[in-house]
Amino acid sequence: ELANRMTERVADVVKALMTNGIMATQNQTIDADTAELIIEEFGHTVVRVSDADVEDVIQTVEDKPEDLKSRPPIITIMGHVDHGKTSLLDAIRNAKVVAGEAGGITQHIGAYQVKTDSGTVLSFLDTPGHAAFTSMRSRGAQVTDIVVLVVAADDAVMPQTVEAINHAKAAEVPMIVAINKIDRPAANPDKVRTDLLQHEVIVEKMSGDVQDVEVSAITGQGLDDLLEAIALQAEILELKANPTRAAEGAVIEAQLDVGRGPVATVLVQNGTLRQGDIFVVGEQYGKVRALINDKGERVKEAGPAVPVEVLGLNGTPEAGDVLNVVETDAQAREIAEYREKAAKEKRAAAGAATTLEQLMANAKADENVSELPIVVKADVQGSAEAIVQAMEKIGNDEVRVRVLHSGVGAITETDIGLAEASGAPVFGFNVRANATARNTANQKGVEIRYYSVIYDLVDDVKKAASGLLSAEI
Ligand code: GDP
Repeated sequence: ELANRMTERVADVVKALMTNGIMATQNQTIDADTAELIIEEFGHTVVRVSDADVEDVIQTVEDKPEDLKSRPPIITIMGHVDHGKTSLLDAIRNAKVVAGEAGGITQHIGAYQVKTDSGTVLSFLDTPGHAAFTSMRSRGAQVTDIVVLVVAADDAVMPQTVEAINHAKAAEVPMIVAINKIDRPAANPDKVRTDLLQHEVIVEKMSGDVQDVEVSAITGQGLDDLLEAIALQAEILELKANPTRAAEGAVIEAQLDVGRGPVATVLVQNGTLRQGDIFVVGEQYGKVRALINDKGERVKEAGPAVPVEVLGLNGTPEAGDVLNVVETDAQAREIAEYREKAAKEKRAAAGAATTLEQLMANAKADENVSELPIVVKADVQGSAEAIVQAMEKIGNDEVRVRVLHSGVGAITETDIGLAEASGAPVFGFNVRANATARNTANQKGVEIRYYSVIYDLVDDVKKAASGLLSAEI
């Protein structure tokens, strides 16, 4: 390949390698530095693939307004455990997929589409909960357009409800509240509405602008209303995509299938993915051998917001990886290899955890008004609130502290996920991180700081903020 690109003879390249002490055969991979040496020896100029090149190949041309067509919204269901997320997803699917329709039985591929009675198509992500949502976001895929927050009417706003609210807010995704289990005798939907007020979610019935719908995943009551509420929210968002361009999508699930090889479920975000398309996805690449939809049918193409299983990958990508269709095999492979190498280097560097100061500096570089996002966990509610209040007072026109999430209890993997997705440190006040959270934080380079005196915490953040200010002058 190297010989080919330099338009030199293979034998000459092998010989040159040998004189440099590398006994390589024709199909052996050599490292980039060696390649560079050889290329220079042959008198050619080295052009290493860079992020910018990758951007160039993956066309980032603006879509022409006339090419933009409205597309279905993509919805994630979040909420506290046992409040009925899975039941709701199943109920929606069962109610709206007509049995006997070609291929009638739905397949679990990670997402599915339904059509409301008024004809709007909606795409639901089939993995409920915010862990999936956040890990996708941390890999660069913002897949969700609308979050449906499920709260059980016979329960209340619970810790994971609050987490879900904060995740949706951090991602700036609009929310619709589904007050579930309305069939239960103990159901008290107004209590849920009042509870939500404390978390700055003001539903329509409380004269706010967040839609709220009473539903039962068991009896099916209110399901149509919920779907219409989603359709309405989607209309407001005016979601558009250009079906005529090369496809871009996000992996929502991927696994190595014994019979079929690596399989990824991709949600197309822009363009149309077709059989035969050459693509790169994260650190993998391939050519679309087959596309299978959520009803288990083989399809020739998938347009915006359509979930499909993609066959024909060289390896298994990860959820959240972005898929881009490119022109040639060589481009696809080159980008995938470049990314693999870059990822390796990043992993090596991640050992050194990001410091508060670095995070601040990054925040500064990003925007005009810099924001330091933070996650706070404390032993008791009172401390959490006191810290949040103190944090919100720090800063001025240039620097602001933004509390993404505050809660009571140990620092968990979810907290780390949220922090990573937003480039935030995690502050533990009289609480520690559990083992999994610590490992994840190490791997991802998320900084965890422990405090037992509120003043110390405030002081550290202030110092970081003022350091940033003086650097600015
Ligand atoms: P998840 O953890 O949020 O996914 O919750 P599940 O969907 O697993 O539901 C938890 C439990 O609540 C299950 O036993 C469900 O049968 C029950 N459940 C869910 N939705 C409803 C509902 O609308 N009404 C009643 N009565 N039970 C429900």
